[in-house]
Amino acid sequence: MRIRGWLTGLIVFLLAPCLLFASLWFYNKFEDVNAIDRSLSGLNLIQALTPLVEEKAVSGELSALPVPLRRDLISFGGPAQTESLTRMLDIFTNEPDVKTSLGYAQQLSTAVSHLAKLDMAVSYESSTLPDLVNSLLFSVIIESSKITDSARKLVKRSKINIWEKMLIPVQGGRFKASADGAALKTEQYLDALTGTHAAELQRVAQAFRKANFVFQSQGSKLLSSTITATGGSDIDADGVFEAHPDLVRATLMLWNASLDYLNEDLLLQRSATQWDVVLAGIFGGLVIIVAFAIAVLLSRSLAARTLREFENLGFHDPLTGLPNRRALLNTIRSRIEPVPDMTTGLLVLDLRQFKKINDRFGDSAGDSILREVSQLLIQYAEPDDLISRTGGTEFTLLRPNIEHTEDFELLAANIIRDLGKERNLQGQKTSIECNAGLLVSQPGERITDQFLTDVALALRSAKQKGPRNYDLFKSEMRTAFEENGETAKELQKALNDGDIVAWYQPQVDIHTGEVVGAEALARWIDNGTVRYPGSFLPAAVEAGYLEAIDATVRERALQLAVALRGKTRQPIHLGLNVTASLLASAKAVDALHFQVRSLGLEPSSVSLEILEAVMIDEITADPIKDNIARLSELGFFIELDDFGTGHSSISSLRDLKVDRVKIDRSFVSGVDTDPGLQKFTSALINLAKSLDISVLAEGVETEGERDWLKGNGCDVIQGFLISRAVPQEALAALILKQNFLLSPPADDLVLTVRGEGPQPRPVRTSVS
Ligand code: C2E
Ligand code: CA
Repeated sequence: MRIRGWLTGLIVFLLAPCLLFASLWFYNKFEDVNAIDRSLSGLNLIQALTPLVEEKAVSGELSALPVPLRRDLISFGGPAQTESLTRMLDIFTNEPDVKTSLGYAQQLSTAVSHLAKLDMAVSYESSTLPDLVNSLLFSVIIESSKITDSARKLVKRSKINIWEKMLIPVQGGRFKASADGAALKTEQYLDALTGTHAAELQRVAQAFRKANFVFQSQGSKLLSSTITATGGSDIDADGVFEAHPDLVRATLMLWNASLDYLNEDLLLQRSATQWDVVLAGIFGGLVIIVAFAIAVLLSRSLAARTLREFENLGFHDPLTGLPNRRALLNTIRSRIEPVPDMTTGLLVLDLRQFKKINDRFGDSAGDSILREVSQLLIQYAEPDDLISRTGGTEFTLLRPNIEHTEDFELLAANIIRDLGKERNLQGQKTSIECNAGLLVSQPGERITDQFLTDVALALRSAKQKGPRNYDLFKSEMRTAFEENGETAKELQKALNDGDIVAWYQPQVDIHTGEVVGAEALARWIDNGTVRYPGSFLPAAVEAGYLEAIDATVRERALQLAVALRGKTRQPIHLGLNVTASLLASAKAVDALHFQVRSLGLEPSSVSLEILEAVMIDEITADPIKDNIARLSELGFFIELDDFGTGHSSISSLRDLKVDRVKIDRSFVSGVDTDPGLQKFTSALINLAKSLDISVLAEGVETEGERDWLKGNGCDVIQGFLISRAVPQEALAALILKQNFLLSPPADDLVLTVRGEGPQPRPVRTSVS
């Protein structure tokens, strides 16, 4: 990837200057063509001057005004040069003095030549021709005109003085100098030419030199006759008058031939430059095509790479680099044909309370833990396994071939154990709690998406068992789940119709037999039959109706507490089962307190039953811990439910200011006959007692159990021995019987509330 980057840079680095060079080249050559065109139009102007110069030099005047030339000069000169150019032309046209007039023609020709940049536009070998034309040849014509002009004047004189005798020699000398110079230069300049018309030009040059020679010899006759003459008739000037037009014509022929040569040269330059323009265009075009092709290729490869990266991203989790849920689904769906006898295993792992780790240590610490989990799974993976991160805290391991289900379960146990090991995170000790759901297919069973749904049910079941548990999928889980869905729908209606009610299971003082409390338990009166929590609470939890059920039960129980207030000798505790979600919310805690207070009740008359699993599992959860402490401070009676089933430690019991523990039925059932259990149960009781915590035993069904509990420090009992959960009227009747057998109640205890239920039977609380 890096090499490609370099290559791209290099190509761009090379292409950019090439493109710039090609465009500059193209532009320059294009400009050159324009410049040559301008030189050509300048040259044409000078050529148009030729006949006029000839006419003026030979006859001394012009027969017609040079209107077209003037117009062309204007367009050539443009706003900046028109004035000076036309002025020169006008003087040349109108000036009667021939040599002065020709001088302006020379100036004009030189100026146009300069503006047309003739010497620069033509080839190097022809670059001397403009000088030959404008300077040397023009001088020959002017100087010869001067002599001819002087001779014309002299021949008309009757007397010639000494100064006039000297005029012709002086002019002759100047003419000779310029003519010799021109003759010499024509040889020099023209011999260097190699163009197709070079020979022709040299031939014309020879004719010029010949005419020059003739004029010079006629000139020398004129010179000698002038020196000896005393009057104009003595002067021999006829030869000069005859030779002068020949010389002018020969000079102008050479002049014209030189201009033609320049014209041809310029046309050649033009076509060569035009070819350069085409070349530059082709080169530039090629560079652009190459650049475009490279750009297309690069962008395609970039697009392909981006697509690959996107696809990769679409199937991979960027944090851990593991395949994601889509990849797992792809793998599952690609195994269309089942392999006979092959058993597939699917393990899904979910971290608990991970949000707390993020909140406490920061997201990057959370990320590093997730990476650690992925590394651990990789360590445990076999070559054919597919490990994927299928959710925020959810990881999945698909093992295509499993020999023993027990080995797969052991794998789950090991992973849970390893993750649960204490680790140091930012100087604080912490551990990762998790659950795992397992699924093992039937041999040869085809793997489908359903596996993911089923393994999620196993995970759910494991979560219900508490942290560090795993569970293996059983088909009953799916049945229960489906039934739960049905139940949830009916439950919603039941809640709306008021069919969810509270029944109460009394709790009696083990020594006096007096009713000291009652646990409110939810009941569903479904078309006249009573449904128990076991049949609808799991569905309610799943559908999110548990809070609504709790609220209903709570409201009714508190109403009962209000009805009972002041009617019993000592306040009756009404026990409410409290969920973790209520405990997690400070707002819900405040609302409960407000509800109790606004009914005029003392919080101490309300017992909050908190599951040991919730209390201990969530012990690290600051809000829950804080809220339990707050409830205790507010005066609520805090009770630890299912005591003995979790991992209560002495410190947690003390820290949370528990008022009473409820020993789980599993430690009560048969305790009077099972010595092993007796040890365990008495240890539990002693633990609570040592912390000054009251003890309630639940699920007491026999008198034997009650007697053992009474003898071993238990304070209160609850169970079928006393009564099942009953409607409030039945509870009131029991209170009446149990508490007021000896002394009748101050007020009438008959409660005027609806509902009927089984009547509790009076019990004796004392055997002695
Ligand atoms: P739990 O809190 O342990 O409630 C005691 C359960 O044990 C009750 O079952 C009660 O009928 C049963 N039980 C009492 N004495 C005996 C006995 O001597 N022998 C036997 N075999 N069982 C006895 P129930 O009413 O079916 O409630 C089951 C669980 O449902 C409760 O267990 C409690 O965790 C939950 N629950 C009941 N009502 C509510 C409620 O309103 N809100 C919440 N959050 N949970 C509730
Ligand atoms: Ca309970």
